[in-house]
Amino acid sequence: MKKKISLQVKCPHCRESLMDEENLLSDYPSIRLNIVTPEDRGTINLCSLFECFDHYSNIDIKTNTIVDFYCPKCNQELTVKEECKLCGAPMVSFVLKAGGRVSICSRKGCSNHYLTFQDLTQELSRFYNEYEL
Ligand SMILES: [Zn+2]
Ligand SMILES: [Zn+2]
Repeated sequence: MKKKISLQVKCPHCRESLMDEENLLSDYPSIRLNIVTPEDRGTINLCSLFECFDHYSNIDIKTNTIVDFYCPKCNQELTVKEECKLCGAPMVSFVLKAGGRVSICSRKGCSNHYLTFQDLTQELSRFYNEYEL
């Protein structure tokens, strides 16, 4: 069985935690963000487990919509100047507490996401320690 990794993420701008300890998804704290779609604005909770795409939102998001993500603490946009290699939508990036970044595609229904580590050996070992892999 694959070990579950719950990613602890922070805002890249204000460094505040984006974890929502009160709203669990898959029994782990979720990642809470403010979102804006062409039709509406609201909040979304993403499952923090890597490779899990469970989420819920208080607004309806149509499949294929590109969603703008904002930090609920500082209200800065989390979209980065990088295009999804699968669908061309902007990517959204968070900072991992253990070091490195996690990036996800902003298009609903696209499953592109990956982890990046700038200093691979150091950050990966910290990452593995933190998650006890
Ligand atoms: Zn912030
Ligand atoms: Zn995509």
